[in-house]
Amino acid sequence: MGKQQCPLCGEHAAVHETRESEYVYKGVQYSIIQPGLWCDSCDDAVISPADRKASQKDRATAHAIIDGVLTPDEIKRARKIIKLTQAEAAEYFGGGVNAFSKYERGEIQIPKAVSLLLSLLVERTIALDSLSAVAEHLTVEHSKFWARSGKLSLGMQRQAS
Ligand SMILES: [Zn+2]
Repeated sequence: MGKQQCPLCGEHAAVHETRESEYVYKGVQYSIIQPGLWCDSCDDAVISPADRKASQKDRATAHAIIDGVLTPDEIKRARKIIKLTQAEAAEYFGGGVNAFSKYERGEIQIPKAVSLLLSLLVERTIALDSLSAVAEHLTVEHSKFWARSGKLSLGMQRQAS
């Protein structure tokens, strides 16, 4: 694949591809797989709005874990466990008609109170059904994160599994 001119440094060393990219959020370093026009000369990248959208859910997942709220996938799983559609969930928990579709795409972060309530409802379902697997699953991703000393690689994790 031919290299293109880098808009940042002018060298013909840029290629559009995905690379593991490190970010810091609230003092915690994490990495995600970020598409962009990456330059081997200046080691920087031009991230288009489409590139940014492609990594939106991974970034939101990292931020949710750091903030201690349910991740987009966990929200979806929790909502299904308590058998609500996205529209029904928005009716119960507020946030507007499209709130849950935005939470589950990682477009906006779920409010902490809604996250807690959703977790409680899931725990209740688990107690009723004598199941613990789901609750365990909700915490597995979080413990993986801390096991890596604050460094996580969501895209890599997904590729590996
Ligand atoms: Zn460059």
